[in-house]
Amino acid sequence: MAICSYAQWMPVKTKQEPRRNGANPKGLILHITDSRNNTLEGILSTFSPGGSNPFPSHFGVQTNGRFGQFIDTKYHDWAEEWSTNYISVECSASPGDALTYAQLYTVGYLYAWLAEEYGIPLVIANKPGDEGLGYHSMGKTGHKLCPGTHVIQQRSTILSIAQYMLTFSASPADIP
Ligand SMILES: [Zn+2]
Repeated sequence: MAICSYAQWMPVKTKQEPRRNGANPKGLILHITDSRNNTLEGILSTFSPGGSNPFPSHFGVQTNGRFGQFIDTKYHDWAEEWSTNYISVECSASPGDALTYAQLYTVGYLYAWLAEEYGIPLVIANKPGDEGLGYHSMGKTGHKLCPGTHVIQQRSTILSIAQYMLTFSASPADIP
């Protein structure tokens, strides 16, 4: 059972499967939603039975940094077509957007938490199988703009924030 204490727990109603082989996740995969879903409730509703997206992610982050968890990390997700070995986060953004500062701090915090929980290293992942911070379109997918070049380039910033959070036991609430 792993629920991130900083996240609001908003479980999806769909049935989940335990992580295969009991393996620890390899890293975190960045996704973007579109601007119509700039609320955790909106993201959650697309994942619900009958919703438009039957492939829920573990976590979601609004543009104001509000943070929710939809799936316990002991279960795998279906958010990447090419692997079930990662944790996923859906960030409210339109294709081509960069993540907001508030989102960067929240995702950085999430990454720090995963590093503590699972020993995930603070490195960039560029292809399926790599450990670290990756993104949806690094594997074979029809979602070529998920999450887009700006968000892909922000990965080093996210890792810097995660390092700060780990070093100072900080959370986004500590950032002025
Ligand atoms: Zn995606």
